[in-house]
Amino acid sequence: MHEKIKEYIYSNRQRLLSVLDELVAVKSVKGEPAPGAPFGRGPRAALDKMLGICRSAGFDTKLYYDVIGTADLCPEDDFPELGILCHLDVVPAEGQTGWKTDPFKMSEKDGILYGRGVIDDKGPLAAAFIAMKCIKDLGIPLKKGVRLIFGTDEENGSQDLELYTAKNRLPDHIFTPDAAFPVINIEKGMMRSKFSGSYRGGSIIKFRGGSIPNAVPDYAECELSGISLPLIRQETNLDRSGAVFTVIDAGKSVMIECSGRSAHASTPESGINAVTALIAVLNRLPLAEGKQKEIIKGLGSIFPFGETDGTNAGLKCTYDSSGALTLVFSIFNMENGKCGGTIDVRFPACMSLAEVENGEKTALAAAGCVFDGYMGDEPHVTDSSSDFVKKLLAAYERVEGTKGECIAVGGNTYVHNIKGGVAFGVERDGTDYNMHGANEYITIEELLKDAQIFAEAIAEICC
Ligand SMILES: [Zn+2]
Repeated sequence: MHEKIKEYIYSNRQRLLSVLDELVAVKSVKGEPAPGAPFGRGPRAALDKMLGICRSAGFDTKLYYDVIGTADLCPEDDFPELGILCHLDVVPAEGQTGWKTDPFKMSEKDGILYGRGVIDDKGPLAAAFIAMKCIKDLGIPLKKGVRLIFGTDEENGSQDLELYTAKNRLPDHIFTPDAAFPVINIEKGMMRSKFSGSYRGGSIIKFRGGSIPNAVPDYAECELSGISLPLIRQETNLDRSGAVFTVIDAGKSVMIECSGRSAHASTPESGINAVTALIAVLNRLPLAEGKQKEIIKGLGSIFPFGETDGTNAGLKCTYDSSGALTLVFSIFNMENGKCGGTIDVRFPACMSLAEVENGEKTALAAAGCVFDGYMGDEPHVTDSSSDFVKKLLAAYERVEGTKGECIAVGGNTYVHNIKGGVAFGVERDGTDYNMHGANEYITIEELLKDAQIFAEAIAEICC
């Protein structure tokens, strides 16, 4: 059977490429809601295109709420056991410099396919489609069914899944090829919270730092009065944080500009936080006594520069393979008696949203500030020793010829809110496929292997 699957996939190379070509050509970027198209006409057009492709391949198709399509391959009228969850919507390509080809026209050069969505997530969807077609055409008998599910709102908050899962049963086992191989079974929880404080007077006229809530801030600036220019110059010169400081004499006041290095909030170790670096410098200066100074001192001690695991905020926690909690103080503004900031925390399954909330409340109170609320998700964990996960890993190992294992990530995948779901493919070995960027690509060889892995997985689980 394994040889037959491989042979089928490789001899249907052209079919796989033409499905992907058709999907890439639909500009399925989120747009204005229109009748029958809640996420805009582009995503809806892609949905119709995919439903048509599945119908002509002989699958039972269905459209849900104009936002999600399904294609079933089932013995008799059984409810499918396995779900493969993909998405048709893509991020925009407008304003991205560096595209060497038309992003909405798939092109090939030296065995590499370029185009918006080829890796995220139209390529994996086309591969999953061919995998189902392979099982069908080879007549491999199914004991249980498989459902291909294709959504249209993954890139903008997954409201498609919310609608679908509210009233529709999901297959017991679901994987999404919208992340990386081998299998991602643990996704950290995430909390993005806001805090505020108030004061009167003080040496700091204004402080501004960071603008993206889920990134290490790469810039902060502060205007000071009543502190001598040479002293400020001396302290910034002595700084060893790695941030770059510029001190500007503004007559009655002094401006300090601080440049760091940005990084995603799930990997803060690789950034240089300009907000905490600048706060550290301020705490070495003779700020005027009072509440403002207490706040700066407090924030400097609960979120010290260089610390990314929340130790001083009382949040440090590590849980088996998901690694340590990460904390980023991402935005801070202070002016006219008021201050406010944003904190991004990614936490392993040893903590809950409620525990992180309590920890932050206590820490911020000690800094003279108030916790103002949050948005977030609990951690997602699927048992790595389950039959389902073992079968996915076996399919991966057979095709790739390398050992498969479960991995944990800091970000969320499409199955974050689906109990028992895992991410399975298609990025490999930390390769940068320019996902969401210019010249997004996938190799034809990888795409064929993806299809082969998915066909093997369907055979393992359903046959
Ligand atoms: Zn995606």
